[in-house]
Amino acid sequence: DQPTPAYKRVLLKISGEALMGDQGYGLHPPTVQRIANEVKSVHDLGVEICMVIGGGNIFRGLSGSAQGMERTTADYMGMLATVMNALAMQSALEEMGVFTRVISAIRMDEVCEPYIRRRAVRHLEKKRVCIFAAGTGNPYFTTDTAGALRANEMACEAIFKGTKVDGIYDKDPVKFDDAVRYDSVTYDECLTKRLKVMDASAIALARDNNLPIIVFSLDEPGGFRGILAGEGTYTRVQ
Ligand code: UDP
Repeated sequence: DQPTPAYKRVLLKISGEALMGDQGYGLHPPTVQRIANEVKSVHDLGVEICMVIGGGNIFRGLSGSAQGMERTTADYMGMLATVMNALAMQSALEEMGVFTRVISAIRMDEVCEPYIRRRAVRHLEKKRVCIFAAGTGNPYFTTDTAGALRANEMACEAIFKGTKVDGIYDKDPVKFDDAVRYDSVTYDECLTKRLKVMDASAIALARDNNLPIIVFSLDEPGGFRGILAGEGTYTRVQ
C-alpha cells in the first residue's frame, strides 16, 4: 500500500556540495545517483517535484570576487555551475526512468529549456521533475533565493531543504553532543537568531508567502520519502 503523501507538490533545494561526495570538489556520480534515488522514491508516491541545486561544489561568485574577479562575472560563473549540476541530476534521474526537464533562468536553448512559468507548471502536472538551473538568473542572489522564488511561482506546498543533519539545532550538532533540535521555528527566529537554514532573502520570501521550509537530512536513506509519508525527524520553519 502506498501512503498518501503529506504534500502534492514540493521543491527540493540542495547545495552543490551535496553532490560532491567526499571528494571536496565537483561531481561524484555515485552521490548524484544516491540522491536521484531518494527523489525517485518520492516521485513514486505521486508527488510533483521541483528541484533547485546550488553550484558551490564547482564555483561560488563570492569566492571568485574575493580573488579579484568582477563580482557579477563571478556570479554568472556560479550560475553556470548550477547548470552542470542540474544536467548531472537530470542524467541520473532519467537513467532511473524518471522524466525530467532542466529549466534554466539563463537561456541556453541547445542545452535545456528556458524558464516559462506556465510551461514548467505543465511539466509538473505531467509528473516530470523540473530541475531549475542558473539560479534566479541575476547576480547577487543565491540558489536558496532561487528555490524560494520557484517554489512560490510553482505553487509548491513546501520547500524541502536537504542538509547533512536532520533539522535545525540550537548549536552545531557535529561539534556539540548536547545540541538540541527544534521541531519547529518561526521565520523570524531564523532571521533574528541567524540560524543557518537558508539565506535571509530566501527566508523572507518564504515568510511573506507562508511557504513552510522543511529542513531534513539527505544523508538518511529513505528520509525524504519518510517525511512525505508522515514519518521521520525534521525541523519545520513556519
Ligand atoms: N548565483 C547567482 N544568482 C543566483 C543564484 C546563484 O549569482 O540567483 C551564483 C552565486 O555566485 C553563487 C553561485 O551561483 O555563489 C552558486 O550558487 P550557491 O552559492 O547558492 O550554491 P550552493 O551554496 O547552494 O551550492
